[in-house]
Amino acid sequence: MIIAVDGPTASGKGTIAKALSAHFGLPHLDTGLLYRAVGWQVFLDGGNPDDGGDALAATTFPDGLLLDPELRSEASGGLASRVSVHASVRQALYERQRSFATQAGGAVLDGRDIGTVIAPDADVKLFVTASVEARALRRWKEMQARGEPVTLAGIEDDLRRRDERDRTRAEAPLRAAEDAIVLDTSDLDRDAAVASAIALVETRLRAGGN
Ligand code: C5P
Repeated sequence: MIIAVDGPTASGKGTIAKALSAHFGLPHLDTGLLYRAVGWQVFLDGGNPDDGGDALAATTFPDGLLLDPELRSEASGGLASRVSVHASVRQALYERQRSFATQAGGAVLDGRDIGTVIAPDADVKLFVTASVEARALRRWKEMQARGEPVTLAGIEDDLRRRDERDRTRAEAPLRAAEDAIVLDTSDLDRDAAVASAIALVETRLRAGGN
């Protein structure tokens, strides 16, 4: 069984994907981390994330980079959003994601284009969203807890910029697949969002005869 979880930054999709992975006993891949690793590798190489050649060269980042806490920073999120517009970068990361999705026993993947490009054949597709204000507040609280010196207004601006870039890019823009179930988490806390997601997946599986 493949479960695809897509949505914008800080919508709660990562938390939901992890909880679905634990609930259904499926391995989980956070595909945003791959793009963050590419973005951060470009930075380490002294390259330009807007240059397709520099970004493509960074897709051969060492696996150990995926464990670097720096990948969770706002800076690497911004770099990820810039390298992810290049078709060559998306192509280079495709096989890794596709083979994870199609492994025996199934998988949960979260990202922007899982239901539309990586696993259009997924058994269940969730599109997790929330208002930009709710997402900015969540991200700000996380950053405060980590001691990152950011303002709420700064985060909100950054989210708007990133949403715009992810939604309007030519390659695999962020959008809900036609057969995705939309889950708006603006007014839900973490437990309520997870409970709704599990219930939605179970209902979809029953309807699909799984
Ligand atoms: O989800 P996360 O915030 O870690 O993703 C960082 C960036 O990577 C996103 O803003 C998006 O531009 C890009 N991304 C993507 N496709 C994915 C996952 C992430 O383009 N499947």
